[in-house]
Amino acid sequence: MKVYVMIGAPGAGKGTQADILAERLGLVHVASGDLFRDAVRNDTALGREARRYMERGALVPDPVVIGMIEERLSRPDAAAGIILDGFPRTRPQAEALDAALERRGSRVDAALYVGVPEDELVKRLSGRWLCRASGHVYNEATHPPLVAGVCDADGSELYQRDDDRPETVRARLEQQLPPMYEVIDHYTTRGSLVAVDGAQPVETVTEALLRAIAHPARPGRSEAA
Ligand SMILES: [Zn+2]
Repeated sequence: MKVYVMIGAPGAGKGTQADILAERLGLVHVASGDLFRDAVRNDTALGREARRYMERGALVPDPVVIGMIEERLSRPDAAAGIILDGFPRTRPQAEALDAALERRGSRVDAALYVGVPEDELVKRLSGRWLCRASGHVYNEATHPPLVAGVCDADGSELYQRDDDRPETVRARLEQQLPPMYEVIDHYTTRGSLVAVDGAQPVETVTEALLRAIAHPARPGRSEAA
C-alpha cells in the first residue's frame, strides 16, 4: 500500500494534482474535509467525536484525524493506497502520522510538494471581482471583464470582497506558509520530499510528479525545476 502526502499552499493546485494522480495511479484521494464529512455521515465513533469539535468551531485534535485516516486506509477501495491532501499541516501532525503509519508497518512513501512562488499565489487567489447588481463573478486571470471594473452583463460596478483583496490574501499566506515549510522540512529530513515547480501548466506538473513517484525518492532528492 502506498501513502502519498500532497503539500502545497492554497492556490498551488495540489487538490487538482491529487485528483489526477489518484485517477492515474488507482489510489484514493483523501482530502481532509471529505474525511471529516465521511466519518460524520457514517456516524463512526471518531466521526461523533470529530463532530463535537466541529460543532463548537474548534479544530479536530490530531489523534482523532489520524484515527480517521487509519480507518480510511482500512477500507477496501484504499487497498492500493491513498493520497492525503490537507493533512499534515504542521510538523507535529507529520510526526504523529509517521508514528501511526509505523505502527501499521507502513510509511509515507513520498511527500509531493507543488511549489508556487508567493507572488504567483497572490495573483491566483486575489483576482476575484463581483458585480454590485447581481453578483456576476469575474477573475482577472481566467475570466476578465471586457472593460476593467464594469460588469459585461449589466454594466454595474465590479468590487472585490475583503477576502479576495491582494493584501488580505498575502496576510493569510503569511500565516499559512510557515507551518507548511516546517512540514516540507520534516519530509526533507526523512528523505521523502519530492518538490515540483507548480507554476508550470497542470499537465507538466502531473508528469513531473509521476516521474518522481516512478523513481522513489532518495535522501536529498528534489525535482525542483
Ligand atoms: Zn453583473
